[in-house]
Amino acid sequence: MTSVTFEAPRDLARGKGKRRTTRGPRYRPTPPPRPWVGKVAVAAAAAGLVTVVAQGIAIETGTELSAPGGVAIFIGSLTGLVGMYLALLMVVLVSRIPPVERILGQDGLLRWHRRLAPWPLSLIGLHAIIITVGYGQAAKTGFLAQIGQFMSSYPDMLAATVGLALMALAGIVSIRAIRSRLRRETWWVIHLYLYLALALSFAHVIALGPSFVGHPLARALWVLVWVATAGSVLAFRFGLPLARSLRYQLRVAEVRPEAPGVVSVICTGRNLERLPFAGGQFVEWRFAKRGLWWQAHPYSVSALPRPPYLRLTVKAVGDHSAAVAGLAPGTRVFFEGPYGVFTRHAQRSSAVALVAGGIGLTALRSLLEELPARSQPAVVVRVNRPEEFVFRSEVTELVRQRKGTVHEVVGELGEVPFNARVLRKLVPDVASRDVYVCGPPGFVDHVTAMAETLGVDRRSVHHEAFAL
Ligand SMILES: Cc1cc2nc3c(=O)[nH]c(=O)nc-3n(C[C@H](O)[C@H](O)[C@H](O)COP(=O)(O)OP(=O)(O)OC[C@H]3O[C@@H](n4cnc5c(N)ncnc54)[C@H](O)[C@@H]3O)c2cc1C
Repeated sequence: MTSVTFEAPRDLARGKGKRRTTRGPRYRPTPPPRPWVGKVAVAAAAAGLVTVVAQGIAIETGTELSAPGGVAIFIGSLTGLVGMYLALLMVVLVSRIPPVERILGQDGLLRWHRRLAPWPLSLIGLHAIIITVGYGQAAKTGFLAQIGQFMSSYPDMLAATVGLALMALAGIVSIRAIRSRLRRETWWVIHLYLYLALALSFAHVIALGPSFVGHPLARALWVLVWVATAGSVLAFRFGLPLARSLRYQLRVAEVRPEAPGVVSVICTGRNLERLPFAGGQFVEWRFAKRGLWWQAHPYSVSALPRPPYLRLTVKAVGDHSAAVAGLAPGTRVFFEGPYGVFTRHAQRSSAVALVAGGIGLTALRSLLEELPARSQPAVVVRVNRPEEFVFRSEVTELVRQRKGTVHEVVGELGEVPFNARVLRKLVPDVASRDVYVCGPPGFVDHVTAMAETLGVDRRSVHHEAFAL
C-alpha cells in the first residue's frame, strides 16, 4: 500500500524547487496503556487516604477530646488533613505522569481533577472555621478574638490564611458560570495560585497539626508525600517538556493555507523518529514569538510524523489560533506531549466509524493513517461549507487505500440535519463499530448521544472535544 503523506516544505525539499513528498511511517509508536498502572495508582491513593484518616483518629486521646474545644479541634484537624491530602491528589492528577496519562488522557485526568475539587476546597474551608471555634473554646476567647490570636502568635498561620484566601479565589473562578465569563488565560493564571496556596499552607500543617507534632514518622511520611507531589509536577509539567523541546529542536518550516481561516504549520526537528506518537494525539504547542511564548495551546498532529517533519493544522477562532497563521519560518517551537487516549489503543472491535465536526478532522486524519489496510473505515465529515473539509484529497485517498467510505454532510446547522437517522443511513452497521468522534464539544456530545441511541456500546465511543 502506498502511503499518503503531506508535502515537505519547498525550501527544505531535497532537489531545489521541487516539492518532496515525505514517506513513512518512521516514528516511534506510543506504548499501549497498562491498566494495572491505573489500579496501582487508585490503590495507592486510597491507601494514603485511609492512612491519613487512621493517623488523625489514632493520635487522639479521650482526655484531649473531653477538654474544652477538644471535639472541634479534633474535627477541625481531621477535615484539614483530609482536605490537604485531597488537594495534593488534585495536583498529582494534573501533573501528567505519562503512564497515568496514557490510561485516562488529559481530558479524563481533568475530569477527575474537577470532580475532586469541591471536596478539598470545602474541607479546608470547614477546617479553618471549626479549628478557630475549637481553639476559641479552649482559650475561652471568641471566634474573632481567636483569629487575631492566630495571626499574632501562631507561627505560619498568616501564610496559611493567605493560602486559604488564594484557594477560595481559585475555587470561585472555577465555578462554571464565572469561568465562562473570564478569558481563559486570566482563569489559568488565577488557577496557578493554587500551587502557591498549597506551598503557603505547608508549614502550618507540619508545625501545628496534631498528627505531626511529636510524631516524627508521620511527619516524615507527610513531607515525603509533598516532595513526591512537587517532584511529579516539576518532572512531568516542566522537566519532560523542556527536555523534549531541547532534544527535538522543533522550528516552524512553513505555514501553509488549507482552507478559509485554516492553516497547517509544518515543523521540522531533529530525531523525530524517536518521539513516541500515536495517530489521534495532540500536543501543547508554545511558539517562541512575541505575544505567544507565554501560552501553550493544544492542537492535534494532523498527520503521522514524517521525520524530520511534523504537521499541525489550526483553525482561527481567537487570538492564539489566528496568530498561528503569522508564524515566520525559523520560529522556535517548544512543546508538551504528545498527549491523549484518542488512539487505536482504545479500539475494541475490528471496524471503526470516524466522525469529524469541522476542524475535528485533524485528529481523525492522523488516526486514519494508522488504520491497517482493508480495515474498511467509515468516515463521516460534518461541515457547514464544502471548503471547510480540509484534507479532502488526503482523507479520500487514505480511505480508498483501506477500502472504506467517506461521507460528507454539508450545510448550515439547522438547515441540514445530522441526527441518528442520518448516521444510521450513512453507516448502517455503526452499532458493531468503534465510533471515534472529534470536534467542538457540542458536536462531540451530540454524536456520542446519537451513537448510543443507535446501540453503540458506551465503551466503544471514543471522543476528543476541542476544549479542555
Ligand atoms: C485536545 C485538543 C485538540 C485540539 N486540536 C485542535 C486542532 O487540531 N486544530 C484546531 O484548530 N484546534 C484544535 N483545538 C482547539 C484549540 O486548542 C483552540 O481553538 C485554541 O486553543 C483557541 O485558542 P484562541 O486563543 O485562539 O481562542 P480563545 O478565544 O482563547 O478560545 C476559544 C476556545 O478554545 C478553547 N481553548 C482556548 N485555549 C485553550 C487551551 N489552552 N486549552 C484548551 N482549550 C482552549 C476554549 O474552549 C475557548 O473557549 C484542540 C483542542 C483540544 C482540547
